[in-house]
Amino acid sequence: MSAIASNLQAVRARIATAAKAAGRSPETVQLLAVSKTWPLSCVLEAAAAGQRSFGENYVQEGVDKIVETAARRLEWHFIGPLQSNKTRLVAERFDWVHSIERLKVAERLSAQRPAYLPPLHVCVQVNVSGESSKSGCAPDETRALCEAVSRLPGLRLRGLMAIPEPTDDYASQCLPFRQVREIYNRIQAAGLPLDTLSMGMSHDLEAAIAEGATIVRIGTAIFGERNYA
Ligand SMILES: *Cc1c(COP(=O)(O)O)cnc(C)c1O
Repeated sequence: MSAIASNLQAVRARIATAAKAAGRSPETVQLLAVSKTWPLSCVLEAAAAGQRSFGENYVQEGVDKIVETAARRLEWHFIGPLQSNKTRLVAERFDWVHSIERLKVAERLSAQRPAYLPPLHVCVQVNVSGESSKSGCAPDETRALCEAVSRLPGLRLRGLMAIPEPTDDYASQCLPFRQVREIYNRIQAAGLPLDTLSMGMSHDLEAAIAEGATIVRIGTAIFGERNYA
């Protein structure tokens, strides 16, 4: 078995254990393989091991992989910061965007989503790390942004995404995830049909699943340490 295949097996086992510990069925947690910085060959290796959904942070790198794997019917999620001058390729090529933090970007994605494709699935990114993070919308602005995004015809609002500050302590990992879930619950109670909580990475997927994650975004534990050089 290849290293990527055995890493995938180990990550799926971690997800199943965490889900059962939380009294949840493992099928309620989707594994997104974050392939940013890794070559196409790694995506193909993961796909050969049964992985269907992949996450990318950089538009051109992601689009290149999407084009090269078009025949395989993989699902592609854009999860990185998105500037408004880069929305067109994302609207034309990706299936999901997790990192909506401004209405302007959402409006452009909606307008640029080709009519022959289904609406782009999107999550609003919430900043639960305060001053230390520049990404995501403020918790108290999340509901208004979700309501505006939910009215855009080219998009289908699915839920919330968050990237808390990394910490090793389990209880500290849970706190921001719980905060995201509480915001999510309030928006759901206000009538928006959300079904997705995109939270949890290689080092904190157990805490995220305990707090209700439905998509975990895993890079390092599948592909190894990234080298940005
Ligand atoms: C890189 C990245 C991940 C994957 O992180 P790992 O720690 O390698 O699992 C998940 N989500 C986002 C938004 C990322 O940028």
